[in-house]
Amino acid sequence: MKIANQHNRAVIVDGENTIDIAEASGGRFGPDPQSVLAEWDAFLAAAPSLTGPSKPLDMSALGNPTGVPHQVFAIGLNYRTHAEESGMQVPKVPATFTKFPASLSGPFDDIEIIGEAVDWEVELVAVIGRRADRVPEADAWSYVAGVTVGQDISDRKLQFAAGSQFSLGKSRRGYGPMGPWLVTIDEVENPDDLGLGCSVDGVVKQDARTSDLIFSVPQIIAELSSVLPLLPGDVIFTGTPSGVGMARDPKEALRAGQVVETWVEGIGHMRNRCI
Ligand code: ZN
Repeated sequence: MKIANQHNRAVIVDGENTIDIAEASGGRFGPDPQSVLAEWDAFLAAAPSLTGPSKPLDMSALGNPTGVPHQVFAIGLNYRTHAEESGMQVPKVPATFTKFPASLSGPFDDIEIIGEAVDWEVELVAVIGRRADRVPEADAWSYVAGVTVGQDISDRKLQFAAGSQFSLGKSRRGYGPMGPWLVTIDEVENPDDLGLGCSVDGVVKQDARTSDLIFSVPQIIAELSSVLPLLPGDVIFTGTPSGVGMARDPKEALRAGQVVETWVEGIGHMRNRCI
């Protein structure tokens, strides 16, 4: 099943059509995505019987598929190739920061370029569907509602302005495009081995597989949930592979007028214009 956020309402995507979850459930679930995710198990049980008037899918009206989550976790240096290109040691525990929730944006939203050090980072994003507190790695996928595509847009100047302030440097408004929809795990053939990449003006900049993650999604959930509970609707940006602009010679950065395309195999494709 694919769940999207169309006009700020959670919808089930069925090919070219959508079913409004709040309308189809008589108000039991939704309308916003976080309230669907808050009752994810009940929603999954009810979903097969939800029918309602279908409306055409309007890609231009899609927002971030999770709405505004309680918590956003992001993992740095989680691909060996990216740790190497950054000149950093491979961490022994997931290097964790947050993107503040108000920075998240939709799959086709514009990215406002501020300064000369705004960079791209394609990432697989996992969304939590059940409260996860001290979850063992072997069970961790069962706590995930689904996965989606993310761009961890980063202002490198702000990120390193105070020595290191990853969270703020990755949280300018609109610097967290996500989407186009949440895909439930049962629809993903092997969620631990997905191709992902991004291009700028059609030139591929990143191209990798999630099987190269240092800490897999289950390992990240086990580690994070040993520290604090992960809540339904929470978002995890799982890290970016090599090929970011900062690590290129010469360095590259996004400029107004460019188009960033971002994809994860079997999940979907985002397109964001830089303004
Ligand atoms: Zn990142």
